[in-house]
Amino acid sequence: MKKIAVIGAGNVGSHIVAIGVHKDLNVEFVLVDINEKLLRAQYLDISDMLPLCDKSNISTRSFKDNFSDIDIFVITAGVAQKPGQTRLELTDVNKNILRSIQKNIGEIKKTALVIMVSNPVDILTHLATKIFELPVGHVFGTGTLLDTQRLLSKLDEKECTNHDGTPVYVLGEHGDSSFVDWSNYEHSSDYSHEKKKKIEDSVRREAYEILEGKGSTYFGIASAVCDIFDVLLSEKIEYLPLSVSLLGEYGLSNVALSIPVRLSKNGFSFDLKKIKIEKEELNKLYNSAKVLKNYI
Ligand code: NAD
Repeated sequence: MKKIAVIGAGNVGSHIVAIGVHKDLNVEFVLVDINEKLLRAQYLDISDMLPLCDKSNISTRSFKDNFSDIDIFVITAGVAQKPGQTRLELTDVNKNILRSIQKNIGEIKKTALVIMVSNPVDILTHLATKIFELPVGHVFGTGTLLDTQRLLSKLDEKECTNHDGTPVYVLGEHGDSSFVDWSNYEHSSDYSHEKKKKIEDSVRREAYEILEGKGSTYFGIASAVCDIFDVLLSEKIEYLPLSVSLLGEYGLSNVALSIPVRLSKNGFSFDLKKIKIEKEELNKLYNSAKVLKNYI
């Protein structure tokens, strides 16, 4: 049975584990949080689901314990946005929390995968790629996967695919400079410029509206992470928009942002031939990189 450690048992972490347990993924979820009282409460609450599931288990650990048996780390620990705050405003505090978590976890398997969720997810993915020192493809962030889910719910078509059959994507920064990859979208010509702009703006604004109303967002991101688990725990291959540190792809390096990557049980790999980003969107990708590089 694979072991998935979810570091941060707040709104996002607890929902990832709850949805994962309900999906009966045949894994042991290991919950970790510095807030021991909250950790115990989340553990007890989620444990109530176990009698309804055959193949899931959960446990808790503290940073005094050993993590060398963990297959997948999901990092959701950190400070969340307050209403009106941008994700990038969380940079300094969440960078420090990530550095302390990496130190506290200690030695991990070289085959382990690390999924970053805490914001600003692109900045933290780039930092995690550096500090965890795992092979290329083992550290990535959820990036614009959530934004892509938000896009799909706003398009008119049921089948929202690109010309090559991959799903239509939101790419770039998981933040205010994200953009839709309209050029590849099969039904792009059915949308006016104004309609495209309206959809793109509402995808970007959605997190702010949710935060304004209930203080945090967790259902969408938790389902996105559990979809990633589906790939990592199977023989499936999927092309997903994930935040990854670029190594010269599209002429960019020393920055992480979302491009479509090939995801398998071994992590991600680059496959630039599969989905060609056209000039209009490439310029938007460069703009996201410029924004993000100010925070690295
Ligand atoms: P939350 O405040 O409910 O939970 C964060 C948890 O992290 C808390 O329980 C806190 O005790 C814990 N924590 C803090 N420092 C820690 C440390 N050093 N070690 C272990 N645990 C620690 O916040 P949330 O709503 O769950 O959001 C968590 C993060 O996820 C935020 O940064 C938020 O912006 C981000 N988020 C990302 C996406 C995305 O699409 N990537 C979506 C939603 C939220």
